[in-house]
Order: sequence, then structure tokens, then C-alpha cells
Amino acid sequence: MKLIFRIEKNNRYSLIPLIGAVHSRMKDVQIFIAKSVQELVKVPPPAVVAYSFMSFDLDQIFKEVHDLKAMNYTLIAGGPHVTAKPYESLRLGFDHIFVGDGEENLLKFLNGEKKIVFDGLKDRINLDDYPPFCAELDLFMPIEITRGCVFECAYCETPLIGGRKLRHRSIESIVYYCEVGLKKNRYIARFISPNSFGYGSVDGIKPNVQAIDELLFELKRSGMKEIYFGTFPSDVRPESVNDEVLKVIKKYVNNRSIVIGAQSGSEGILKKIKRTHSVEILLKAVDLILANGFTPQVDFIFGFPFERDEDRYETLNLMEKLLKMGCKIHAHTFMPLPGTELEQVGSAFMPEWFRRKIAQLSSQGKLYGYWEKQQILSQKLTGH
Ligand code: SF4
Repeated sequence: MKLIFRIEKNNRYSLIPLIGAVHSRMKDVQIFIAKSVQELVKVPPPAVVAYSFMSFDLDQIFKEVHDLKAMNYTLIAGGPHVTAKPYESLRLGFDHIFVGDGEENLLKFLNGEKKIVFDGLKDRINLDDYPPFCAELDLFMPIEITRGCVFECAYCETPLIGGRKLRHRSIESIVYYCEVGLKKNRYIARFISPNSFGYGSVDGIKPNVQAIDELLFELKRSGMKEIYFGTFPSDVRPESVNDEVLKVIKKYVNNRSIVIGAQSGSEGILKKIKRTHSVEILLKAVDLILANGFTPQVDFIFGFPFERDEDRYETLNLMEKLLKMGCKIHAHTFMPLPGTELEQVGSAFMPEWFRRKIAQLSSQGKLYGYWEKQQILSQKLTGH
């Protein structure tokens, strides 16, 4: 069988673990990687084409699916949009769709199981059963150390896609795959987690300092030259920051900053978006991060449609305070993602005075991020 992964810059982290799963278990499947349709059609049908995509990629996907269907390819899809809108995705023209965890179900499909919808929401996988990347094909990415999130932020798709029950990859498995990478001169360790300080934690909130210490110690001992933990792409929740965990990671990591989510300076907005922490908890976490010699990079989300000017002023005041303390501000714009509680509230809205203020902070180098591009994507999601 020929299996073509339709890879793009923004779906690599979804597809690479699946490529790893297929490559490690199904030797009779020929794997192809296509970065464009032109590349894809060089592998003629019969072949299966695998997609993973976000909701704002729908226009492009719709066109590709239409063209490839006419050429008799078998089309399958998983990922964030499909998980949130399975039946709508089928109507796009896919033959089979995969919701939630894809690894096990993709193998079942390739082994001949006939289903239209493969449900990876109920049947969750154990991360240790699958590789985090595909070293044999030189497809590397940060290692996913935890899948699922115990929090339920109203704007986030992660609890739907990964589930609310945490599944941690074991220390042995992480070290094993880092050693696999080392053999291919991959000396830098990065991780994916919804909350890296929750690694190994039973409740996903209180840090398991012993597990984090052991993990980082073993990675250093294995020969990793650089370790990045608590920074992109694995930020931390304010509730999980304590002095002990910061002192432990300081012994091993190369990152000088810690990425932490504040999202708003308004207690009212924090409640509405279900952040479950207060501004005070955020400020305590920031103090501890600074006291341990790290620079906090604090995430904010602008443009919740229910934000009032009072909320916006509170956010601006908090950002000014954080900047004076020595933090960096990482700016995002709200996107009403399918499958989230805020899907129906409309696209992001920022009054002109607020937009100008954010643009000014950005031009002064006090704030960075893709907040402008995300405003366009936000509108794309609602069609206006
Ligand atoms: S924003 Fe982060 S903490 Fe909140 S639900 Fe998503 S992954 Fe979990």
C-alpha cells in the first residue's frame, strides 16, 4: 500500500508521530511525504493521502480534496478541525476520518479495518507504545511528554483533542528517543506539553519535582548538549510554578526564559474564559521565576468579544506592571476555534484605541507575537 502524508509547516507536529507509528509497525506500507499537490501527484493512485488540518485551512483543503478525489485517491483526515467537526469533515469528501488520538486507529485502518469514523477520543493510546517522531526518515520534532490537559480553558481545543486525562510519556521512553536522536546528531532536547511543570504529576497541576529532576538528569547524562524545558513549545501554568521546581530545572536547562500564560489582567475575563487562576497567582509565579534568574515571557490573548473597556485597561495595567518587573509580553488574538466553549461568541474584536496601544507597544519592542495575523484568522473562522 502507498500512504502519502500531505505535510505542511503547520501540521508537522500532528503528522510526524503518525509517520513514526506507521514506519515502526507496518513494513509493507510505502510512506511518501508530499509538501505540495504537485509533489503528491507524482505518486499515482491507488494511494491513500493523509491530511491533518486546522479550521482556517479549510479553503485550501476543500480545493485539494476536490481535485484529488477526481483522480481516485483515497483520502483520510484527522487533526483539530476533524476532531471538532467530524461529520462536516466527511462532507468535504474524505473517505475516512480519525478523531482524537490517531496512532492506533491509523494502524487499524492500514490493517484493513473498515470504518468511516475512527474514534480516538474513547480509545486513548499510551504514549510509550509509539515513537514521538520518525528518526529513520529524519523527521524529528520536540518530544510530546504529556498528552491531554486537566484544565478547560474555554478557548482551547487541547482538552477535546488530547482528552482531560493526562498521559505522560515515561522517563525511560523520553531518554530512549533522545538517545535515538543523539545518534543522528540531534543534541538539543525540546518538549511538547500543555504544562511542562505538570510532567509526571498525578493531578497535572502540582509539580512532581522528583520526576522532573530525574528526567532532566538522565537527559544530561545521556549526552544532550542543550535542554529547553518550560519554554516554547511547552509553557507552564501559573499554578504549577514553585520555587522547588524552578531550582531543579535551573541545574539543567539552557533556556533563560519561562513561558507562562496570563491571558488577561481582568479577573472577570479570567473567569469567563475559565482560566481558574487569578492575577495574584500569576504575579506570585512571575516573582518566583524572576527570583530564580529566568525571564518570564507572559502570554496574553486580546479581543475576546465580551471584553469591555474596563477589562482592556486592566490588561494594559497588568502588562505595564509586568514590563517594569522585567517580563516580556507575548501577544495573541482570540480565535473562536471549533469544538471549544467560545466557538459561537464571534470573531475577535478590538476597539481602535486598544489596537493602536498594542501596535505602539509592539513598535517599542515591548510586545511580540502573531496577534495581527491571528486577527485575520479569527475573522476567517466566522466568515467575517
Ligand atoms: S490553554 Fe493550556 S492549560 Fe488551558 S486547556 Fe489549553 S492546554 Fe490546557
